[in-house]
Amino acid sequence: MKTTFKVNIQHSRATRNGILSLILVLLSQTRDARASVESAQADEIQKDIPSLCADIDKAYIKRNWGKKSACKGIKWKIGGTSVEGRPLIYFDFGPSTATNTTLIFSMVHADEITPLYLSFSVAEWALENMKKYPNARLVLVPFINPDGFFDTPKTRMNAHGVDCNRNFATKDWDRDALKSWKTKFKSDKRRFPGIKPDSEPETLFQKAMIEKFKPTKILSIHSPLNMIDYDGPDHLPLETFSEEYVKKCLELRNKIKARSSGFFPGSLGNYAGQELGIPTITLELPTALPSKAKEYWQYFQKGIVTVVTYEVPPKSKK
Ligand SMILES: [Zn+2]
Repeated sequence: MKTTFKVNIQHSRATRNGILSLILVLLSQTRDARASVESAQADEIQKDIPSLCADIDKAYIKRNWGKKSACKGIKWKIGGTSVEGRPLIYFDFGPSTATNTTLIFSMVHADEITPLYLSFSVAEWALENMKKYPNARLVLVPFINPDGFFDTPKTRMNAHGVDCNRNFATKDWDRDALKSWKTKFKSDKRRFPGIKPDSEPETLFQKAMIEKFKPTKILSIHSPLNMIDYDGPDHLPLETFSEEYVKKCLELRNKIKARSSGFFPGSLGNYAGQELGIPTITLELPTALPSKAKEYWQYFQKGIVTVVTYEVPPKSKK
């Protein structure tokens, strides 16, 4: 039974003298110059957050999601800049000392729409409720691909035409990414992995969030495939669970349509789940219909809160 479950889990998956001092002076000047440019850019971008939030609020009004999102009520931090210069925002709720850290990513595919409502609903929930969970920390990255969202029409890809969920430098990228894009996906523009891995600011932003916060688990919100996909790892101490529990999990897995959609070169699940060993769950909302967004938040809220509060058991010592 244990073996069967293991197989299932693996299938369901679900890392410088004279000249010298001159060089040092030059280097430090270059660094100073660069620092002042960066700081000027940071100020510029800082000003852009209100404008980003105003645009998000307009999107809310257009879709009858209410007069405003939770965007303006949060002191977002900036983890990068999109291709078109928009701020890539995140916020960490809960104490930095908390060991149970969940990273939520949303809207890497900007034409999927419903995850936008869900992620800002999570922000609103977190402002009110995270204090109830002193050992939990939530790092929310609600809007990975703003350029694609504000493009007309909206696009899955970023402003370079790259699918940022196929652009992570996974071990199989060089060998497989462009090849499988050409053959398996018949050069579908919507799935273009880029000319080289880690080429896009939106991809590097996600990697930086993982590196900075070292989450114990990741939830990535998409639509409209109506399923839950679990990407690795397979090192949870499964042998500590009873047979009855395992049976119930498998039943639930079928009921909630959890499955493995396979691994794509350069995807988050492949990079974070498989290679870094961080449990990574993809929630695919049933549709991208804006009129359904509120219903999805009602329906999935409890599950999302469970993901945030659940403590991943430590690695088993096999
Ligand atoms: Zn997607």
